[in-house]
Amino acid sequence: MSLKDVTSNLRAPIVTRVADAPTVRVHSVEWRKVMAGEPVEINPSVGHGYRVMSVDEWSARWKKNEAWPECLQCGSKNTKEHHFTQTWCRGKKKWESECLCLECHSFSFRSYCDPDFKTPEEYEKERWQNMVAAEGAKSLEVSS
Ligand SMILES: [Zn+2]
Repeated sequence: MSLKDVTSNLRAPIVTRVADAPTVRVHSVEWRKVMAGEPVEINPSVGHGYRVMSVDEWSARWKKNEAWPECLQCGSKNTKEHHFTQTWCRGKKKWESECLCLECHSFSFRSYCDPDFKTPEEYEKERWQNMVAAEGAKSLEVSS
């Protein structure tokens, strides 16, 4: 999946919102601690234990989202993405992204969903319902 796939052929508006804390729960607990100057857990890949971290240090491993670097609050491009998920199903896509602004400490959340996007589960359910409906029609033919 390239960045171009994610950003091109958008057929619905991108939904955006700005918050002063991450919408992603795993990070919101840590964010509160960083803001309060309380120790947060050191990433297991660089060490272990807890340490008081600055915002820069806490977000050091995150990368900028090159497609949408602007902070929705202040317009700064000094942002880092800490959350990105995408789901593709039969050529239809759905994604969400959240970036932290290092200037104003706002979180910019963006999400997108194709108008006719369905999950694999929804496709499966529909297929099954159609099958049941077809079976029902068949048995009606037989009994009449
Ligand atoms: Zn900002």
